[in-house]
Amino acid sequence: MGMIRLKNVSKYYYSKGIIASGISRVNLDIDSGEFVVITGESGSGKSTLLNVISGLDTYEEGEMYIEGKETSHYSASDFEEYRQKYISCIFQSFNLVSSYTVYQNVALAMQIDGCDPAEIRQKVSDIIKKVGLYEFRNRKVSKLSGGQKQRVAIARALAKDTKILVADEPTGNLDSESADGIVDLLTDISADKLVIVVTHNYEQFRDHATRIIKMHDGKIVEDTGAAVRTAGEAVPAYGHRSTRGEHRAKKDSITYGTQLRLGVRNTFNLPAKFLLLLLVFLFIVASVSAQYVAVKRQKDTVAEVGWNNYFSNYDPKRIVVEKQDRSAFTRADYDALENAPHVEKVIREDIMYDSSVFIENKDFSYYGYALSLSNLDKEPDLGRMPEADDEVVLAGYDDGWTFGDKPDDLIGKKFTVSTDGGLGREVRVAGIVVLGSGMDEDAMLTENNMIYFSDPLMADIRKGMYAANSTTTMLVNGTEQTVYPGSGGLNVNENVPEGYILLPTSYDPMFKEGYAAGKEIELRTKALYYDQELKLMIMGTYGEKTFESKTGLKNLAEHDGEIYISEMDYRRLYEKGSFQTSVFVDDTKNMEGMKDMLERGGYHALVLRDHINNFMSEELVSIVQLPISVIVCLAVFFIAYFVIRLILKSRGVYFATLRMLGMGKGPARRIMRVELVLDCMISYALFILFIYLNRTGVVSSEQLMDHITYLTTRDYIILAVILLVMAVLISGRFMRSIFRSSAMGTYREEA
Ligand code: ADP
Ligand code: MG
Repeated sequence: MGMIRLKNVSKYYYSKGIIASGISRVNLDIDSGEFVVITGESGSGKSTLLNVISGLDTYEEGEMYIEGKETSHYSASDFEEYRQKYISCIFQSFNLVSSYTVYQNVALAMQIDGCDPAEIRQKVSDIIKKVGLYEFRNRKVSKLSGGQKQRVAIARALAKDTKILVADEPTGNLDSESADGIVDLLTDISADKLVIVVTHNYEQFRDHATRIIKMHDGKIVEDTGAAVRTAGEAVPAYGHRSTRGEHRAKKDSITYGTQLRLGVRNTFNLPAKFLLLLLVFLFIVASVSAQYVAVKRQKDTVAEVGWNNYFSNYDPKRIVVEKQDRSAFTRADYDALENAPHVEKVIREDIMYDSSVFIENKDFSYYGYALSLSNLDKEPDLGRMPEADDEVVLAGYDDGWTFGDKPDDLIGKKFTVSTDGGLGREVRVAGIVVLGSGMDEDAMLTENNMIYFSDPLMADIRKGMYAANSTTTMLVNGTEQTVYPGSGGLNVNENVPEGYILLPTSYDPMFKEGYAAGKEIELRTKALYYDQELKLMIMGTYGEKTFESKTGLKNLAEHDGEIYISEMDYRRLYEKGSFQTSVFVDDTKNMEGMKDMLERGGYHALVLRDHINNFMSEELVSIVQLPISVIVCLAVFFIAYFVIRLILKSRGVYFATLRMLGMGKGPARRIMRVELVLDCMISYALFILFIYLNRTGVVSSEQLMDHITYLTTRDYIILAVILLVMAVLISGRFMRSIFRSSAMGTYREEA
C-alpha cells in the first residue's frame, strides 16, 4: 500500500452552468521516495490531479487513500489538517506574499507550524542559503525576478518539511539556466521526500525523475510505474541524503505571539491599504459618534420642557451641589466653582432658592427667592446699589403689577422680611432690576422674582430657614421632647447669658425636689446637613409674676411656654454655613461633563433635569431612538464591510496562501482581527487626538466642538467598545466569506 492511492477518482468543474471534467477515473499509487513527474499537454488535467492529491481541491467520484485511509468523507478542515501534516506546495504562480520579505515568506511556513523562534531563525537562514538567495533575504518578494521567486517558493516548501512536496510547473516561468537550478534543487530534495512535479516540459526532468505519468484529456495515458529509480539511473550526483537532518518535532499550531505579530505586520506593510482602512474606520467613528450625540441631544431637548415638583426652580441648567463630606462651603469652594469652565453662575444660598421670602408693608408686598447681593451682576434699573446691610434690591419681570403702579415709589421704602424662620427684620428697598416683560416665555418657564440681600441678612434668613427646617430636641432629666424655634417655642433673649437656658415653671416638677434651676439640660438640633449638641445650665424658671423681670418682655400670654437661650447659643444651633449650592451651567450640553467634574472634585451633584417629570419621558426617547441607532449602526456596518472587502480583496489570496501552508481557520481569523482592531483603534486615537486639538484650539471646527461637548469620558469608552465590536464583527464576516470557498477556489476567484 502506497502513501497515496487514487481509485477511479474524478473531479468536475462547474462554472456558469457548464460542467467541465478536470480528471476522470484516475487510478494511481505513489509511495515515498519517488520523484514523480506528471506531464501532458495544456488542459490535460495535470494541475487538477495535483490539487486533488494535495487536498487543495475536492473530488466528486472515486476514492483517494492517504496511507490507507479513505478521504471521500473528509471535511474541509480534515483536508486542512492533511495538508498541514503532509503537503508542501510550490506553484507556478508562486503564491508568495509579495508584501513580505524573502525571509518572512520562508519563515511563515514554520511559524504556522508553531516552531520555536530560535529554530526558525536558524533553519530559515540555512534554507535561504541553500536556494541561493541569502543576499536577498530582506528584500520584498515583489521586487524579485521570476527565478528568484520560484526559489523562495521552494525554500518555503522546504521550511515546512513535510513528507510530500508538490510543484506545479516549477520551471514554467523561468529561463533555462534558472530552470536547471530548480530541477537540481528538487532532485536533491527528492532523496528523502516524495516529490511530485507537474510540467509540460518533460525534457527538463527526464534525467532525474523516478517515474513519469502522462496525462491526456483528464486520464492517465502512460505511467512508467515506480521502477525508474530502482533502475538506478536517476539519482546521480544529487543522490546524497540531505544535510537538513531529521524531521523536527512539530508543535501543535501557530503561537498567539506569531498571530499577533503577523496581524500587526499586515496592518502596516501596505501603506495605501492601511490609509484606506483608516479612512473607512474614521467614517465609522464619525457616523457612530454622530448618532450617539444625536440621541443625547434629543434627551436634552426633552428635559428642557419638563417640570419638577420638589425644587421650585427647575431650570434645566441647574445642578444642586453639596460636599461629599457634608461640610459647609468655604470661600475657597465658591471661588473654585465660580472659576470652573462652563459655569454660568453659582447660587451660594441655594437652600433659599426653592422657597420664597416675603417683604411687605401696609401698601405693598413682594416675594421672591432670597439671593446674596454677590449674585447680582447688573446695576439696578431704578434706584441704586445698596450701601447699608439692611438695604435690598428687588429683581423681577415686570408685567404691570409685580412692582406696583409706580415702581419708583418703592425706592427707599421700609419693609418687613418674613421667612419660614419668622425673622421680622426691617429692610429698605435700594434698587429695582427689571429683568424683562412678564410676557417673556423665559419668565414663565425658569425665572422668578428675586430679592437680593446683604450677606449678614442672608445669614439671618438662612438661620431662620435652618431653624424651620431642622428638628430640635431637648433632653430634660432623661426625657426627650421636641422644641420648635420661634413664637411659643425656642427663642433668643438678651437677659440669658451664654451657656444658660431660661424655662417656664412647668419644667420644675420634672426634677427632684421640684427645682429646675442649676440643673443641666441638653439641646440637640438635627438638620439635613448637620447635627449640633449643646449642654446648657438652667438659669431658672419664670412664672406669671417673674416673666417680665426675668425676660424683659411684656405680655406673657403672647409668649406662653417659650424657652429662652442666648443669641450665641442660638447661633450655635442654627447659624450654620451654607451646605447646599447651585451651579448653573452655560449650556445644557455641558451638563454631564460638569456633573463628572463636580463628583471628581468631592461634591455630590444632583442634575435637576434628570429628576424632571416630562410630558415625553427620556425613556420614551430611548425607546424611539434605540431602533434608529441600531439601524444606523447596521447601515454603517454594511457600508464599511462592503468597502473593507474591496480594500482587502488581495487579503483573500494572502489567507489562501496561509491555508495552503496549513493554517487553520482560528489563527487566520485572529490575524485578521488583529489587523482590523488595530486599524480601528488607530482611527479612534486619531479621532481623540483631533478632539484634543480642537479643545486646545490648535484646529477649530465649530460643528465638531458642538458635537463633542456632549461626550463624557464614559461616552468615549462606550463608543470605543461599540467600534471594537464592529471591527471584530467585520473581520469575522470577512473571514467567513474567505473560508466559504476552498483555498484553491479563493485563488481562482481572485485571479
Ligand atoms: P493542466 O494543468 O493540465 O493545464 P487543468 O488541470 O488546469 O489542466 O485543467 C483540466 C481541465 O479542467 C481543463 O479542461 C480545464 O478547462 C478545466 N478546468 C480547470 N480549472 C477549471 C475551473 N476553475 N473551472 C472550470 N474548468 C476548469
Ligand atoms: Mg496547469
